[in-house]
Amino acid sequence: MRLQKFLARAGAASRRGSENLMTAGRVTVNGQVVTELGSKVDPACDVVAVDGRVVSWGASPTTIMLHKPAGFVTTMSDPHARATVADLVPTDRYPGLYPIGRLDADTTGLLLFSTDGELGHGLLHPRHHVEKTYWALVEGRLGPADVRALCDGVLLEDGRTAPARARVLAGADRDRAMACFAGPRPHTHAQARQRTRARKGRDANDSVVELVLTEGRKHQVKRMLAAVDHPVVSLHRETFGPLSLAGLARGAWRELSAHETEALH
Ligand code: URA
Repeated sequence: MRLQKFLARAGAASRRGSENLMTAGRVTVNGQVVTELGSKVDPACDVVAVDGRVVSWGASPTTIMLHKPAGFVTTMSDPHARATVADLVPTDRYPGLYPIGRLDADTTGLLLFSTDGELGHGLLHPRHHVEKTYWALVEGRLGPADVRALCDGVLLEDGRTAPARARVLAGADRDRAMACFAGPRPHTHAQARQRTRARKGRDANDSVVELVLTEGRKHQVKRMLAAVDHPVVSLHRETFGPLSLAGLARGAWRELSAHETEALH
């Protein structure tokens, strides 16, 4: 097996991260530093180590979901010392945990992490068409022509977007999405009433749209909605493939069950 694949499977890092560990000279096989990316190992008898610590393939990988709050950058370490998603997940308990894809700092919602370096590679590859459901509060009233354009594909700087599903949310669906968006929680009843009044006043001039995408380009939802002249005010991701946030409080995380992990493969 290729060494970088072994490292990713063992949870040492993502596949790209494993390659970086190798080229940085931090990986040894039977005591010898190996930097060549095509190198092979035999998982049954070779001893692989990163920074001198033996990497074993025995433990089964862990995958968790986080209900990401706004204000956290999707990275496991940040040179500018900003708040990151690493502050919210149990990195001590699960060494090698890395985020699968990213949400913008101001986006809330479902973010997956895994110690299985292969999983992210599979889930993020456009060929696998994994569906993600986003709820966006946008400026202005979205009309049927806008919805059709979002479904058919809009032209962005990096090409036309793939066919998607889109609908404007109303009633209880809209209320459910509104409750997920970022924003300070009101502290008193008076503040709560004020917020409700302000929201009702705004309702005539905004829409909540549900977008189901199979692609994952950078800032894709924000760019798609800006392209139809309805800039995003708040953005939330509710589902990722077969998984949904249902019942998970903002800021909380949980391990996926074996059944849920299986469904991701
Ligand atoms: N699309 C965006 O624009 N931002 C996100 O955080 C996720 C998808």
